[in-house]
Formats: sequence, C-alpha cells, structure tokens
Amino acid sequence: MKEIGHFVGGKNVAGSSGRFGDVFDPNTGEVQAKVALATAKELDHAVQVAKKAQLGWAEKNPQVRARVMMKFVELLNRDKDNLAAMLSSEHGKTIPDAHGDIQRGLEVVEFAIGIPHLLKGEFSVGAGPNIDMYSLRQPLGVVAGITPFNFPAMIPMWKFAPALACGNSYILKPSERDPSVPMRLAELLIEAGLPEGVLNVVNGGKEVVDAILTHPDIQAIGFVGSTPIAEYVYTTGTAHGKRVQAFGGAKNHMIIMPDADMDQAVNALVGAGYGSAGERCMAISVAVPVGKQTADALIEKLIPRVESLRIGPSSDKDADFGPLVTRQHRDKVKDYVDIGIQEGASLLVDGRDFSMQGYENGFFMGGCLFDNVTRDMRIYKEEIFGPVLSVVRAHDYEDAVSLPNDHEYGNGVAIFTRDGDAARDFSTRINVGMVGINVPIPVPLAYHTFGGWKRSGFGDLNQHGPDSIRFYTKTKTVTSRWPSGIKDSAEFVIPTMG
Ligand code: NAD
Repeated sequence: MKEIGHFVGGKNVAGSSGRFGDVFDPNTGEVQAKVALATAKELDHAVQVAKKAQLGWAEKNPQVRARVMMKFVELLNRDKDNLAAMLSSEHGKTIPDAHGDIQRGLEVVEFAIGIPHLLKGEFSVGAGPNIDMYSLRQPLGVVAGITPFNFPAMIPMWKFAPALACGNSYILKPSERDPSVPMRLAELLIEAGLPEGVLNVVNGGKEVVDAILTHPDIQAIGFVGSTPIAEYVYTTGTAHGKRVQAFGGAKNHMIIMPDADMDQAVNALVGAGYGSAGERCMAISVAVPVGKQTADALIEKLIPRVESLRIGPSSDKDADFGPLVTRQHRDKVKDYVDIGIQEGASLLVDGRDFSMQGYENGFFMGGCLFDNVTRDMRIYKEEIFGPVLSVVRAHDYEDAVSLPNDHEYGNGVAIFTRDGDAARDFSTRINVGMVGINVPIPVPLAYHTFGGWKRSGFGDLNQHGPDSIRFYTKTKTVTSRWPSGIKDSAEFVIPTMG
C-alpha cells in the first residue's frame, strides 16, 4: 500500500508517529494509500527547517523569487494532465473539473510573478528639513496554511504562492483526504528552483493543526475549511499572537427575478448547484425565485434537468459529477435529505438511492431537488456540501434580498435579472462578500481578492490579490536625516512639521 509521508527540507520523509489516515478512491470505496499523521514534534522539526531556510530566501531579490514562480507555472503546465488524474482519483471530481482546480491555482502563481511590483514601498522626499521617509514591506518569517479537501491544488497555491513570493517560508498542512497533489506541488517547486526547506508539507489532523496554532515561530496562518474549525483556528491562533485569516463554510443563494432569462438561469443553477457534487464553497445551494409564476416556471424546467444529471466515475470526462469524497460525507449528505423530508420540504428529485453500475461501493449519490424550503429548516440554515439544491420561494424582491442578508453565512450570492436597477441595488445592499450578476459562481480572479463575510470568513484580509501582499508582509517605515540636517542641540519636544 502506498504510504504518503511529509515533505521537509526539500525531500519526501516518512512519518515517525506510526499513525496513518486512509486515503480512499471515492470511485471504488477502497483505501488506495495511507497518509502519515504528524506529531507536534515533527511539526516543530519542519518549522525549524523553514525558519533557517527563510533567511536566505528573504535576502534574494524579489525578481529572483518571482523567477521561481515563473518556472513553477511552466512545470504545472507540463504536468497538468498527471496532476489532474492524481487529484481526481483522490477527490472524486471529474478530470475536466480537476483541470479547473489546477488552473485557478496556477493563475495565483502567475499573479505572484508580479509581486515585486506590489512590494515596492512608499517614499516621501523632504518630509522634514533634510528628512526623507520611506516605508517598505518585509516578509513575516515562517507562515502556515491549513487547507480543505475540496480544492487540493487551488487552495494550497492560493496560499503559498503569494507567501513565498513575498519572501516567507511556508508550512502547508493539506487535507488528509487528498494529500498527493500538495506533495507533488512541493516537489515541483524544488524542480522550479525553490531552495530546500522554504516550502514544507506536514500531513496530519487535529494534533498537527493544534501544534501550528500554538507554535511560537509561526507568524501567520491562512486557513480554509468548515466554519466551526475556521472559528477555532482564528480564536486559537490569534490568542497565540498570530495573524490569522480563516475562511469557512457557505450557503450561497441565487435569486431569480421574474424578468430573468429562465433557460440561462436553469443552466447556471444546474452547473453551480451540482458541479463537483456540490462540494464547492461557492456552489449554489439555494435557489430563490421571486413570485409564484417564476417559481413554477423554474421548477418545471429544473426537474427534468436534475433527473437527467449524468453521474459517472471521476475518470469519465463526460460526467457532470463524480462520487463524493468519503462514505462518511456521502452518508451525512443523505441524512440531510432525510431531515429535509421530516421538516416538511417537498423532495421533487430523490438521488439517495443512486448506485453507479460497476462501482457499487463508490461514494456516489444522485442529485436531489427540494421545493418549498423555508427559513426555519435545518436544510436551509446549515451547509450540506453535496448535490442537493433547495428552492426557497420569495414573495417579492425585498423578501428575496432578506434571505442571504439574514443568513449566518456570507460567502457568495448571485442575482439573475435583466433589470440593471435591481442588479445595482442588489450588489450595493447585499451583505455577502462575493456577488454575481448573471454569474452563478462569482469567484474573483487572481488579481482581485477572494473572501466571504459573516461566518464564512474570520479575519480582516482576503485571499490572493492585493490583500495577500498585506497579509504576508509587515510594513516598516524609515525616517532618515543626513548630518547636514542634524541640529547640534538636544530636542525634548516631539518633532512636528509645524
Ligand atoms: P474541514 O474543516 O473538515 O477541514 C479543513 C482542514 O482543517 C483540514 O486540513 C483538516 O485536517 C483540518 N481539521 C479538521 N478538523 C479539525 C479539528 N477538529 N481541529 C483542527 N483541525 C481540523 O473542511 P473540509 O471538509 O476539508 O472542507 C470543506 C469545507 O471547507 C466546507 O465547509 C467548505 O465550505 C469549506 N471551504 C471554504 C472555502 C472558502 O474559501 N470559504 C473554500 C473551500 C472550502
């Protein structure tokens, strides 16, 4: 059986804890590898390696660091088919979707190539008599990232690419469900010229996460995962003096106005609701048609589309989606469907009994569609993270807007309409971090920033884009005066520019 260890000091190393987690093939349900679960001591060793390597890395000029990112992009493109196959076999998303996962990560590496420009500080000549003042951005030191199972290529790259380009060294703790791609990314970085020890991957679960949160030599932590863990990481990490950004779960609404193009809206809903088996933090899980006529028209078109979703093994490039990540998670999603029925929602399409021929032990389920879901139901309030779409009927526009505004999550939201006034009003008033206007999955591009509001995000700064430079650097301001401007007497009053 394949054993996955850690990546420390530029090479793969075996774990020493003697404890392992199972890495499944979600298509067959079989365990395909064992991943080592690190101890706090193993984490400490990786941090010491990273700390030593960081000094030399930070001293390199920013353009030299950028060139490593440039070469890394080249290698990602060279190896993308292998990476996509590896990713898909552990996660269960289809190969074309796995390519998207790699591509959206790669785009942030491309953004990181331009970071030297964004690291430039500010300069004021003659800020006082013979005084010049300048500010510069310096790396933090050793920083860490803790990432979820659902984007095993994209989210690690969103985190480490800007951090490394800014001159930090990095400890990555990927999800123990699909660790092979993050390990391979670390090898590719070495091939791209990253000095050994600058990026280290430490696999594991709660023990190693807790060790990261409390380690005195880790300066900042970027987390992505479910909301309870995001909140825990944020409160524990900040209590230990670290800079923390922690992104959590979601319940993304799509509002369909009476004037929307219904065919476009249905296409958008089916793709954004069921793509990747709904295991995306930006998946649409709630459709909100405005008015009875809109709702009836939407349901009529949705039912046949959900019934005819094409489910297949992740290697089937024509499948709409593949299996879910684990049996445990698939069963949890099915339990939510049972809960929805008990709560009184109308289950119009039931995918619970779906079985994939030839893959009967795989973690598959079919698409489910609920109508008449209401605000008080658990299936509305909680994140399901599976191929389950809930329709909540709104009386009017104000009723529709109040749904995402009142919801505890605030990651993404979309409105489908042809009315510019409504779209503008919506984008201004909505209490959610990322908004789509006739765009169902409004994931900002690499040079903008990604982040949800309310209980979808803890901390002040977003991921990638300009916020990533702010997050991974600290500002120093230097005031300088040369001898000709220095007075020959002591000054006891605070200097002013009066
Ligand atoms: P998860 O919270 O179970 O795990 C995330 C990370 O935390 C993993 O590395 C895991 O090992 C670690 N972890 C899990 N339990 C822990 C514990 N008790 N103590 C310490 N560490 C722990 O999340 P997941 O199931 O891997 O990913 C799915 C979740 O991630 C969904 O809620 C999804 O919405 C969210 N997500 C959010 C975003 C975003 O940007 N907001 C993006 C992707 C995924």
